[in-house]
Amino acid sequence: MVKFKEPSTKFMKVRCACKNEQIIFGKASSVVNCLVCGKPLATPTGGKAFTEARVLEVLD
Ligand SMILES: [Zn+2]
Repeated sequence: MVKFKEPSTKFMKVRCACKNEQIIFGKASSVVNCLVCGKPLATPTGGKAFTEARVLEVLD
């Protein structure tokens, strides 16, 4: 499992708790919500982008 240490400028594939997979930008400047259940996948607060989501893949 990928450990997310610092904000990245890369795109990432994440999976929500509802199992929706979504591509998001690693360095979110605003809250990104899951398109299916509406949970936040990424937030700009504290430099830690991912809350509910699991990072599956980092895309270069
Ligand atoms: Zn979801």
